[in-house]
Amino acid sequence: MQASDVILMGFTASFCASLGTAVGSLGVFAIRKLSRRMEDGLLSLAAGIMLAATFFSLLLPALEHASSNYHSDILGGAAVGAGTLLGAFTLFAIHQYVPHEHFTAGREGGNHYKLGRIWLFVTAITLHNVPEGLAVGVGFAGGELENGITLAVGIGLQNIPEGLAVSVALLSVGYSTGRSALIGILSGLVEPVGGLIGAVAVSSAATVMPWALAFAAGAMLFIISDEIIPETHNNGNQNLATFTLLIGFVVMMLLDTSL
Ligand SMILES: [Zn+2]
Repeated sequence: MQASDVILMGFTASFCASLGTAVGSLGVFAIRKLSRRMEDGLLSLAAGIMLAATFFSLLLPALEHASSNYHSDILGGAAVGAGTLLGAFTLFAIHQYVPHEHFTAGREGGNHYKLGRIWLFVTAITLHNVPEGLAVGVGFAGGELENGITLAVGIGLQNIPEGLAVSVALLSVGYSTGRSALIGILSGLVEPVGGLIGAVAVSSAATVMPWALAFAAGAMLFIISDEIIPETHNNGNQNLATFTLLIGFVVMMLLDTSL
């Protein structure tokens, strides 16, 4: 596969993954309200899919590429470890500067206060779509078509509950159904931007490949640990959240082994 093919594939696949957000957002026409329990369960399911995608579709190929690049499993492992930490730290640094609300939006407080919180929640989901796009974009590293497609399917699937959560939250603060759906759809469109960045990075040089994969993995792990797990365990639904996360993990693992 040519470098330009990798870029085109990465961009197209991350765009397709963002359609999952659109599907979820359009779901607001059918599902008008989500209980806190339902929201915690669904977002945790999304986190489980993200987690397995990080392991099987980012870290494993990263280790493979790095070991062959550095002719050593230990050096390869060290490089992937460093890249993972770099990705997580970069996301941490970005989080310090961008105002956002952690994943789940509050139900309490006055209407004005609530409106602000919902917008911060929408920002949080939108921001986390950038590393997801990045992950899909780097997934085609080395022309690995199957790996990239598996990632796109997994990320696309977990975008469905995320898109729904965004649109339902907007509906709850008085936006019309159409407008709530539209903003949800737009929140997913940052994904192809991340996809393009990731695809360009991995197509540039073989030496960059494992680093880009590891970087995307670290960014994903940061979001899962910093945002989704704490927020979905904060409302008394931790048992449900733990098991929906595990179900998401298993679903993605099966997807990875079957595709
Ligand atoms: Zn996600």
